[in-house]
Amino acid sequence: MSTFEPIPKTMKAAVIPSTGASLVIRDDEPVPQPEDLLPGECLVKMDCTGVCHTDLHAAKGDWPIPAKTPLIGGHEGVGIVVAIGAHTQDSPVKLGDRVGIKWLADSCLDCESCRKGLEQVCLKGKYSGFTVDGTFSEYVHSYVRHVTPIPDGIGSAEAASILCAGVTVYRAIKYSHCSIGDWIVLPGAGGGLGHLAVQYASAMGLRVLAIDTGADKRDLVMKLGAEKWIDFKETKDLVKDIQDATDGLGPHAAVITAATGKAYEQAIDYLRPGGYLMAVGLPAKASLSADIFFTVTKSISILGSYVGNRQDAREALDIAARGKVKCYFSTKSLSALKETYEGLEKGNIVGRIVLDFKRQ
Ligand SMILES: [Zn+2]
Ligand SMILES: [Zn+2]
Repeated sequence: MSTFEPIPKTMKAAVIPSTGASLVIRDDEPVPQPEDLLPGECLVKMDCTGVCHTDLHAAKGDWPIPAKTPLIGGHEGVGIVVAIGAHTQDSPVKLGDRVGIKWLADSCLDCESCRKGLEQVCLKGKYSGFTVDGTFSEYVHSYVRHVTPIPDGIGSAEAASILCAGVTVYRAIKYSHCSIGDWIVLPGAGGGLGHLAVQYASAMGLRVLAIDTGADKRDLVMKLGAEKWIDFKETKDLVKDIQDATDGLGPHAAVITAATGKAYEQAIDYLRPGGYLMAVGLPAKASLSADIFFTVTKSISILGSYVGNRQDAREALDIAARGKVKCYFSTKSLSALKETYEGLEKGNIVGRIVLDFKRQ
């Protein structure tokens, strides 16, 4: 075992004592101690952590799979490696490295899914802030092979937002079978995931049709690289307007982050023949009811895309570190987590919220 600096016995953490119970901010949560780390495990001292809609689902317990309790949530954190378990061989990170902790905390790296680069569906996968404690605490127990090295040229708060929202939309666009010059439609383009998707799609040479509502969001997405815009509250026929805006044929792909089934059904109608529907949102209860006749005769592909693997995370961060993608966020202290959850529930949070552990 080796450590970077003295490790305290207790820390500040946001804890959910039981499913559906309200969040408690504690000062006396035990810190995982370096001598208890197994080979391959590490301890990360957090700089900051993003807050994601998934954290709200974990706290409320409204998904088909419940989170562990008591739970420390959070899955998009950035910090410094301060301890590595004794007898760890060939660690890809060393003490003092700045790393990210993402949704997939660990996987076996040996099952068929892992070998094929789909480690996020590994049956032995561990999920930050869900099946293992996450990033809403000053120190986080993690795994040297799954923390993500953060490149120079990107701030920790920006990197935090890329680790979940950025990786998720980046991977969905990467696997959407679009080539340079193809049309991609992004419903919810002005939101937390959407505004990153607009920039990744533009950086990849795609033509972006952004859909959302309100002048503020329109101005934002057009500034970020969208070519066309449709306000879904102003249009009388969304499907027709989308097709008219994209050569009359419809877009080549749609990346849908929405929490309702309707947005997915509409995509079958407006997609170009041969188009790809990338399902990314994780609503608690919603079904995708696709018209089979048109799915077949238009040769539509419906694909689910779930966060990203270690390589997707590195690529998404690298593109952002080179200035191609900017994240809009505001910072708060850990004690503001409760009000952040309330804001997420009401839908009135603009951009991402990042909790900074240096703030009181
Ligand atoms: Zn997330
Ligand atoms: Zn595996």
